[in-house]
Amino acid sequence: MNDDTPKVVTMADFRPSLRRKPVAYNICSHGRLQIDTERRMLECKDCGRIIDPYDYLMKCAEAEESVYYTVRHLREEVDALKKERTILASERDRLLLGNNRLRRGRPE
Ligand SMILES: [Zn+2]
Repeated sequence: MNDDTPKVVTMADFRPSLRRKPVAYNICSHGRLQIDTERRMLECKDCGRIIDPYDYLMKCAEAEESVYYTVRHLREEVDALKKERTILASERDRLLLGNNRLRRGRPE
């Protein structure tokens, strides 16, 4: 192959994704928050840290997004396993039929 050979790129090779900067959110590792409705603030019930509501919302959104992709991946895996089960059941039936014929002395 020489350098003049055109490189073929299909749409399958093109996978856009969101680019995000890794962000350190101003939140703690606890998870028990209290909403102060008068001061419109979030405060951790365990350590008393004041939590930025936007940071908390972003953390929740990212966690939900992660769950979404995990569920989608698992559904694809279930579909693949169902197809494989169908193939294996068909193969099992074929082998059982062949085995029964052999027992009766009648080849396929
Ligand atoms: Zn905390």
